[in-house]
Amino acid sequence: MYDDDPGADLEALYTARLDADLEMAEMAATADRIHRLRTKGICTHQSWVGYLPKPVHEPQKQLTPGQVACTDMCRRVFASEDDLIADAEEHLL
Ligand SMILES: [Zn+2]
Repeated sequence: MYDDDPGADLEALYTARLDADLEMAEMAATADRIHRLRTKGICTHQSWVGYLPKPVHEPQKQLTPGQVACTDMCRRVFASEDDLIADAEEHLL
C-alpha cells in the first residue's frame, strides 16, 4: 500500500494556510485596535522594562524589585508585569 496520501497532504497544506491567514487577520485587527487607542491617547504598554539591580535603561533607575515601567506612551510604573498586562488587557480585550 501507499504511505503517502497526496489528497491529505494537500488538505493539510490548505488548512495550514487558512490557519495562518486567520492568525494574520487577528494580528492585523489587534494592531488596528492598538492604533485607534493610541490616537485617543490610551496607552496599551506595548513595551516595558523591569527592575535590574544595575539598571541598563533610564526608566529602570526608578524601579524597585518586581516593578516594571512602560516605555511606550505613558511611562507609568506598575507594581508587577501582571499589573501592566492586566491594565493593557482592559483596553484590548
Ligand atoms: Zn503605557
